[in-house]
Amino acid sequence: MLGRLARWLRIMGFDVEYAASSLSDTEIIEKCKSHDLFLLTRDKELHSRYLPSMYFTSQDHREQIRQFLSTFTVDKNLVFTRCTECNHPLENRDTADLKGNIPEGVRERFSTVLYCSKCGKFYWEGDHYDKIVQFLRGLGIEI
Ligand SMILES: [Zn+2]
Repeated sequence: MLGRLARWLRIMGFDVEYAASSLSDTEIIEKCKSHDLFLLTRDKELHSRYLPSMYFTSQDHREQIRQFLSTFTVDKNLVFTRCTECNHPLENRDTADLKGNIPEGVRERFSTVLYCSKCGKFYWEGDHYDKIVQFLRGLGIEI
């Protein structure tokens, strides 16, 4: 339910796991307790059962991000350090070694790209990147 929020928080560098829809409320709480996780939820009952949590009423991801940032601060050194798909930390890869793995145009423009060794996704500063930076600056995040 908070998938877009989760992706944006990962872009900002927060360590965000996503609860599988197959998990019951009790299983979610047990997982949070055993891994010392802070829970983000749109489920008021779940929120009341596990206090290190934030309850969201808005369905709009921008509102959700603002609410989150009223409590948590972005460390700008951590922005763009996590995979938005799977939360794994990203690493730098030299584009010279990536022939056939990424578009030739990207290899020509950049000497390094970011890579997720868990899911195999590559990230570079394309048009999408500029929109992300604008969005974050619109939220008052200096990057
Ligand atoms: Zn990944």
